[in-house]
Amino acid sequence: MNQHARPNRPALDSYWMPFTANRQFKRAPRLLAGASGMHYTDMDGRPVLDGTAGLWCVNAGHGRREIASAVERQLLQLDYAPSFQMGHPIAFEFAERLAAIAPGPEGQRLDRIFFTGSGSESVDTALKIALAYQRAIGQGTRTRLIGRERGYHGVGFGGISVGGLVNNRRAFPTLPGTDHLRHTHDIARNAFTREGLPAHGAELADDLERLVALHGADTIAAVIVEPVAGSTGVLLPPEGYLQRLREAATRHGILLIFDEVITGFGRLGSPFAADHFGVVPDLVTTAKGLTNGVIPMGAVFAGRHVHDALMQGPEGAIELFHGYTYSGHPAACAAGLATLDIYEREGLLTRAAALAGHWAGAMHDLRAAPNVVDIRTIGLVAGVELAPREGAPGARAYEVFVECLARGLLIRVTGDIVALSPPLVVEAGQIDEMAATLGEVIRATP
Ligand code: PLP
Repeated sequence: MNQHARPNRPALDSYWMPFTANRQFKRAPRLLAGASGMHYTDMDGRPVLDGTAGLWCVNAGHGRREIASAVERQLLQLDYAPSFQMGHPIAFEFAERLAAIAPGPEGQRLDRIFFTGSGSESVDTALKIALAYQRAIGQGTRTRLIGRERGYHGVGFGGISVGGLVNNRRAFPTLPGTDHLRHTHDIARNAFTREGLPAHGAELADDLERLVALHGADTIAAVIVEPVAGSTGVLLPPEGYLQRLREAATRHGILLIFDEVITGFGRLGSPFAADHFGVVPDLVTTAKGLTNGVIPMGAVFAGRHVHDALMQGPEGAIELFHGYTYSGHPAACAAGLATLDIYEREGLLTRAAALAGHWAGAMHDLRAAPNVVDIRTIGLVAGVELAPREGAPGARAYEVFVECLARGLLIRVTGDIVALSPPLVVEAGQIDEMAATLGEVIRATP
């Protein structure tokens, strides 16, 4: 859209909005009309600094012409092709490019790639691959899936079953045969950790041992965690936690899945969290930054041992009865390839590492503001946790969100936690602006 064209205000009745207080929103709508670089434009043409990369996805910033042109070219060349029993070149090309930067060290990269349409689909795909893998290696009794409290793995039935956010679960039945590790959030011991990872809590990874003792390892197929839990309010893994979880999973023949829908594609300062923490999972789920958020797409990265175990049976047999109409959609692949070009040319998959110190400094300066009970940063992510108002959980942070927007800054809140995750093209001055606005608003909010 031409940024200068002002769209008309739309009628609001028919669109049932996702994860939104619809009635409240429609009384006082917050509409974004355009975007370029680090900024959105609202309906009145005012700039809004994007503190959240949209929904953790617009890593290369908004309005990248190169991506738009690549999508247009692809749509005119080949708009859609069936994804089952047929192929088209750009899906293979994109998979090869992704394989070259796939999570894991050289020689151990998870370079077999299954395309999906979203993060939720990536999660359900990874869970199904894990089950199919166990069956294929003669471990068909392993059907249990382990997640973690406070985890967010999207909204499919698989994802909510291993997820650990009560509001996403309470209205829906979840899969039988799931269980959860305890979460790692521990303000009492780890508040305001500024350097490195929280010192306390690695032993929580031993929960996997507890669940093995309870259920039997021979019933457990996989354990899935977000290396850094995002949607629940930015929870960092305690020092040594992920390594310990990896060791326990290996010991018991359980596949380890990292859900990197947020952490993938440079958010922490490394291409993937698996690289950042030096822990190699068996499967990695991604979406969001895969296409800079501009065309819906997800990808599951699988280790060769997982992939190869399934490539057996009669030559003409379909090895995995799973896939989507839009797996490897040509337009999404075009967007993804153009996105990767930008990431590589502009060094965006590691840029967060260079800015992390400045980012942490700016965010931790908010410590002195009233009602701030913890600040957590890693790469270009921050969680600023506020004390809930007596009897009104979430109200304080919601007011902070609304007021930041009024002052031209988009943040995200979950409960009473403010989450920030700007596009990876953010400049130091814009980081300072975010911290200054957020600080002023927190100070002005009772
Ligand atoms: N997994 C994680 C870790 C996420 O943060 C999200 C979305 O925020 C999802 C899965 C779901 O992705 P989507 O909304 O694309 O289905």
